[in-house]
Amino acid sequence: MTHLYELTAHELQDMIKNGEISVAELVQSIFQRIEAVEDKIHGYSSLHKKEALASAKEIDKKIKNKKKFGGLAGIPIAIKDNMNVLNTQTSCGSHILESYISVYDATVVARLKQADSIIIGKTRMDEFAMGSSTESCYYGPTYNPWDINRVPGGSSGGSGSAVAANETILALGSDTGGSIRCPASFTSTVGIKTTYGMISRYGLVSYACSLEQIGPITKDVKDCALLLNYLVGYDPYDNTTINRPKVNYLDSIINDVNKLKIAVPKEFLGEGINEDVKKAVWDAISKLEGLGASYEEVSLPHINYALPCYYIIAMSEASSNLARFDGMRYGFRVNEDFNEWNKVYAENRRIGFGAEVRRRIILGTYALSSGYYDAYYLKALKVRTLIKRDFEEIFKKFDVLLTPTMPFPAFKIGEKIRDPLSMYLADICTVPINIAGVPAISIPCGFTKKDSLPIGLQIVGNFFAEPIILKVAYTFEQNTEFHKRKPNL
Ligand code: GLN
Repeated sequence: MTHLYELTAHELQDMIKNGEISVAELVQSIFQRIEAVEDKIHGYSSLHKKEALASAKEIDKKIKNKKKFGGLAGIPIAIKDNMNVLNTQTSCGSHILESYISVYDATVVARLKQADSIIIGKTRMDEFAMGSSTESCYYGPTYNPWDINRVPGGSSGGSGSAVAANETILALGSDTGGSIRCPASFTSTVGIKTTYGMISRYGLVSYACSLEQIGPITKDVKDCALLLNYLVGYDPYDNTTINRPKVNYLDSIINDVNKLKIAVPKEFLGEGINEDVKKAVWDAISKLEGLGASYEEVSLPHINYALPCYYIIAMSEASSNLARFDGMRYGFRVNEDFNEWNKVYAENRRIGFGAEVRRRIILGTYALSSGYYDAYYLKALKVRTLIKRDFEEIFKKFDVLLTPTMPFPAFKIGEKIRDPLSMYLADICTVPINIAGVPAISIPCGFTKKDSLPIGLQIVGNFFAEPIILKVAYTFEQNTEFHKRKPNL
């Protein structure tokens, strides 16, 4: 018997509209599943069960009485814990925001509510989205449903695991340097980071504003396109959003890559990339070739500078963005009277932030300080332009660029957390995309031989080429079986 929690949003949509199932039934099914597996997964930092069941009833009423209802009516969604949902906790996986209750809805959340989607809860994440494993979450790590001794990736690991373990139908993540695509790759789900400026960041707690985008993590490509329809769009509250004509992303759900021109950058398939990952990506390229696409190997000459460039920019922006958390305005405050404001701030921040967040604030502050600004931050901005140009050159000739999403499959819990540099190296294939601002999707493309761990394929497109990358992703998915394999829980 297929359970409701196993289905996709596009399958459930019709069943709900036709009255085949009630929304209450679906939401119950999700919470039953959560009760059964959450002990092993730890995907959520908070659950909104009462509110979810209440909205389910309301939507059921609307449907029954033939009242107007939204396009995602009754579809459960999990929200990464760095997006504000009115009157609920937004912790960012941090001690410092443990007691913080949102006073407004993020724009994406308001849009989902308007579409009658049902918020199931908030998902765990690396503290302030800084990490690639979800191990730095103050509430404890999330586990990978494919092997609970391994990380789900990060920083949106809670969202990735919750989708893979069928603890929700849809999820939102945020991606500053790979945080949607990394968990998608490690949990065999689909995740997209859109062109910078496509989705409002209003109500997303900022980590590095010039790099990040909110986006979907879903069970398949069609759900990803469906959810994008409700997220993308200009927002007067976020002046980095772009005002463009509306696109229906479901129109890209077409099985066709005929004459598609693929670029394969050799830097992404060389040294340091796991052999099984390399093979899966080359197999994917052959598959697409067999379906009518052609490929050529290319080079991105400045790609070696992407990682240092990213970490200087991200840490600099973080040091400025996180200055607001001083224990005076939000969340945690030490219970001691120091009689000296500097000491109060310092203690609040020393105790409230975890080790990685403190490290990045210190390094970011250093990179921005006078005397070092030109040598680090300004230089990183210049390198950013060079990297962006590398991508622009490629897209003059090619439709998409294919790379592994992650250089290796999910690693063991505890393996990298004490060695920050090795953790940063995990982002080698994803951060250049954020630096350039172009869109990229990660889809399942295989499993490792020995441990059967998921492998993700990254499909990168030119600015605003989301329709193209969705089409390629959908075509690959329709002609392979990887997305059908589910973890055994
Ligand atoms: N792992 C990267 C970092 O730590 C990316 C995180 C993200 O995309 N939020 O910065």
